[in-house]
Amino acid sequence: MRFPLALTTKIAAYMIAQKLRGTKKFATVLQLEPLHTCNLTCTGCGRIREYSTSLKDMMALEDCLTAAQECNAPMISICGGEPLIYPHIEALVKGLLEQKRIVYICTNAMFMRKKMREWLAKELRNVDRGLRKELEEKIDILLVKGLISEKDATEIRKGPKDPAKPTIGPTRWMYWNVHLDSLERTHDLIVEREGVFKECILAIKMAKVLGYQVATNTTIYKETDMQEVEQMFDYLSDLGVDGHTISPGYEYDAAKKDMIKRLNLQPENFFLTRAMTIKKFQKIEEWMQRYTLLGTPVYFEFLAGKRDLTCSAWAIPTRNIRGWKGPCYLMTDAHYSSYAELLGKTQWDRYGVVNGVARDSRCENCMVHCGYEPTATLGLQAQRGDTWKTIKFNFGPKPKPTGLGSEVLAFNGVTSGNGHLTGKRAEPSAQAS
Ligand code: SF4
Ligand code: SF4
Repeated sequence: MRFPLALTTKIAAYMIAQKLRGTKKFATVLQLEPLHTCNLTCTGCGRIREYSTSLKDMMALEDCLTAAQECNAPMISICGGEPLIYPHIEALVKGLLEQKRIVYICTNAMFMRKKMREWLAKELRNVDRGLRKELEEKIDILLVKGLISEKDATEIRKGPKDPAKPTIGPTRWMYWNVHLDSLERTHDLIVEREGVFKECILAIKMAKVLGYQVATNTTIYKETDMQEVEQMFDYLSDLGVDGHTISPGYEYDAAKKDMIKRLNLQPENFFLTRAMTIKKFQKIEEWMQRYTLLGTPVYFEFLAGKRDLTCSAWAIPTRNIRGWKGPCYLMTDAHYSSYAELLGKTQWDRYGVVNGVARDSRCENCMVHCGYEPTATLGLQAQRGDTWKTIKFNFGPKPKPTGLGSEVLAFNGVTSGNGHLTGKRAEPSAQAS
C-alpha cells in the first residue's frame, strides 16, 4: 500500500464523520508554529521575515496542545521557524501523540541527529536486555556508516542527561519531514549555508537505520531545475524515504522585500507565475506513479494544468504566537483568538482564484498545497471518476525504490557564499554514496 493503512483509515474516518455531521468547514491539517526562530535564513522564507520582530517569542506548550484540540485536525504539521529549537518540542510531540494525532515535524534537519541520539541514550537505559542488544547493533551500524562518531556513541551509552525529559522516538504516527529543495549545490544556495544538504542526508540515513518514518518537502521556484528534482527523488527513494510533498513557491511579500534589500535580487526572477507552475509540473503525473508523492491525483492534475480548483485554506489553518492566522498559511490579514473565530470572521469568498480570476491580487499566482490540496482531498469540486482515482492511488502499491540513486551525483558541489545565486558553480566534489 502506498501509505500506511492505519494513517489512511484514521484520516478517512475523520473526514467521513465530519461530512456525516454536516460540518461545512473543518480542519484536516493544523500548521502549528510554536516559534519563528530559525538557525537558517533561506532565501524564499516568508516566516523569518514577516515575524522578524517576534523571533524570540514562542507559544506555551499548553497553547500548542490546546490549539490541536480546538481545531481537532487529525494531522499536525509542526513547523516554524525551526521546531527542533522549541524547548518543549519533545513534550509537544508526546502530547500530540497522546491526543492520537498524526505528527509531522517539518525541519531543516540540522538538529535531527542530536534529537535521535538523545532518544537512543534514553532508550538504551529503559529497555530490557534483548532490545538493548538490538540497539547496540544499531549503534554499531551508525558508527560504521559514519552517522555518529565514537564520542557520540560514548555519550549515548552514558545515558540521558535528564532522565525525566521525554524524547522523540520512532512511531508509525510520526514523520520527520525534511526540507530539501534539490541536490547539494542548489539546496545549499537556497538555504544560504554550505553543508546543510549533507547534514539532511546524514540525518535521513540515521533515521532510517533507527526505524523512523521520513518524508521530505520540496518547494519549486522559477529557477528550479526539474530534472535535478527528479534525480533527488531517485536518490531519496533509494535511501528509503517514505514520502515526498512538493509544492510551488509562494511569493511572500516579506520575502520579496528582503530579496531586493539584502540580496539585490529581483523577485520576479525567483517566484513562479501560474503559467510557469503548470509548465514546471508537466511531469507530476508520471512522478506520482514513480515516487511516493504525498498528495492526491486531483491536486497533481491541477498543478499540471489539467483542471481547475478553488482554494480551501480553512482546511489547513495556521496557529502561531499571534493567534490563528487568516486567511491562510501564506497571507496575513488578521490573527484570531480561536479557530472558530478564524472560520467565522474570514470572508472566504474574497480569496482564491475562480475561473482564472483572482479574487485577491495576492492569490493570483498561488497554487500551493495548503490552499488547494484540501479542495481535492475533500472532493469539493469532484468530477466523475475522482473517487475511484483517489482510492486507487492511496490503496495502490507503494512505488519501489527506482534503483537509480547510485547514479545520481547528489553531492554536486557547494559555493553558497553570501546566499542565493551568488555562488559559483563548483566542480562536482563527490559521488553520492
Ligand atoms: S529552515 Fe524553514 S523556517 Fe528556517 S529559514 Fe528556512 S524555510 Fe524558513
Ligand atoms: S489562493 Fe493561496 S494565497 Fe490565496 S487564500 Fe488561498 S492559499 Fe492563501
